[in-house]
Amino acid sequence: FPTETVYGLGGNALDPKASMKIYAAKGRPSDNPLIIHIADIRDLDKIVTEVPEKARILAEKYWPGPLTMILPKADIVPKETTGGLDSVAVRFPSDRIAQELILAAGGYVAAPSANTSGRPSPTTAGHVAEDLGDAIDMIIDGGQVNIGLESTIVDFTEEVPVVLRPGYISLEMLQETLGEVRMDKGLIKPDSKVHPKAPGMKYRHYAPKADLTLVEGETEAVVETINRLAGEKLAEGRKVGIICTDETKDRYPAGMLESIGARARQETVAHNLYAVLRDFDDRGAEYIFSEGFSEDNLGRAIMNRLNKAAGYHILKV
Ligand code: AMP
Ligand code: MG
Repeated sequence: FPTETVYGLGGNALDPKASMKIYAAKGRPSDNPLIIHIADIRDLDKIVTEVPEKARILAEKYWPGPLTMILPKADIVPKETTGGLDSVAVRFPSDRIAQELILAAGGYVAAPSANTSGRPSPTTAGHVAEDLGDAIDMIIDGGQVNIGLESTIVDFTEEVPVVLRPGYISLEMLQETLGEVRMDKGLIKPDSKVHPKAPGMKYRHYAPKADLTLVEGETEAVVETINRLAGEKLAEGRKVGIICTDETKDRYPAGMLESIGARARQETVAHNLYAVLRDFDDRGAEYIFSEGFSEDNLGRAIMNRLNKAAGYHILKV
């Protein structure tokens, strides 16, 4: 079913068998917990044991919307849904179709992204059909999603709120509302020994089939480097994709070119990111070179997903 972030694969969150079926359909490791979706704020208290003041403030401000909160779980939530953890992830999506489905289903829908584990998240019903068409009972087609990246996850099980997954609701927005908020240390450095706290963030996610390299630096150097690397691969007879932006799309003479959006409007980049990766899969790209983005506001979420798609294969120029 559609949500404002990406398509979700839903099942009854309070039924352990439904959660097991979700893991099976996606090929998802069962230690990677699911997000419970609600569509009425009054339903929150039944699935958690405590809602700290700061979580109430965020719920008030950003729900319904692309924000997931980690809270201590109530006994009614099966461990199958939370991947064995004592905390539970909860979100109240703003998409009308999602809300109606959740209410019709009894109020609690466990839903990870509706992709095969490891593939880019689906932003159209077609993407879901491609990955899971044979494994699931129904797809509700709500057209293309709005945001295009998964929700921001904020953990409230510690004193200071921690962002476990960056998303549309940025660190800057959270800090403005709550004061001190920090990024999960496991997210900051891919090569650090600290594991990300969200189990799902440790996997190489969002990956296209091609070998993706991110090229970061000043625009001139980035364009020059991508053209050179693409040229080398093309000379070897390889299929090469280039992820550029509206601002630079006239500067790449060779290779399959796709603009990911306008650098000046980060939300367009978020919106197109997964579709561009899937398109290059469909077009048979073997190597993809992508421009990098600044890591402020929504850029933090964009770079988190691109870094993971690239398996942290990054070239600084
Ligand atoms: P997805 O369902 O594909 O949007 O992924 C959900 C993300 O939320 C994964 O990265 C999970 O590891 C994370 N998550 C869900 N529940 C928890 C929890 N209780 N504690 C920490 N992370 C969680
Ligand atoms: Mg996912």
